[in-house]
Amino acid sequence: MRKKTIEDYVEVIYNLQNGSKKAHTNDIASALEINPASVTEILQKLHKDRFVNYEKYSGVTLTKKGKKIAIQTESKHRKLKQFLTLLGVDKKIAEKDACEMEHILHKETMDTIIKFVEVIEKCGMTPFWLERLKEYVKKGKLKKCPDQLKELCKNYSY
Ligand code: MN
Repeated sequence: MRKKTIEDYVEVIYNLQNGSKKAHTNDIASALEINPASVTEILQKLHKDRFVNYEKYSGVTLTKKGKKIAIQTESKHRKLKQFLTLLGVDKKIAEKDACEMEHILHKETMDTIIKFVEVIEKCGMTPFWLERLKEYVKKGKLKKCPDQLKELCKNYSY
C-alpha cells in the first residue's frame, strides 16, 4: 500500500471537520483504516509542523496552513473525478481512484488533466470521440469510425 502523506491526513481531517467541528482520532483512524495509536503519533507530528491544532482527548482542527493544503487537494480530487467520469469510469470507482491519484501524480500530469477537463467544458458538449470512448467502455465493443466523422476530424486538424 502507498505510504500516506500529509495531504491524506489533512484531507480526511478537513472532511471530518465539515466546517469548524473538531475531528477525532478514532474517526480519522477509521477513515484511513489505520490504528488510533498511529493516528495520535501522526497528529503530534502534524501539530509540531503546524498543519493542525491538536490537544489530546479534545480533537483536532486544521491550521490555516493545513486548510490551504486541504483545499488544494480537494480541488485536485474534484478535477480527477471529473476526468475519470468523462472517460466513462463508474462514479464510485472514480471517487476512490481520484483520492489516490491526487497524491501521486506529477504536477505536469495533474495540470494537463485539468486542462483536458477544461477543454471539454469549454465546448459545452461531449466531443464525438469521447462519446465513442464512453460507448466502448460501456459495451466493450469498438465500432468502426464512421466516414463522416473521419471527414469532420480532417477539417479540424491543424
Ligand atoms: Mn485522497
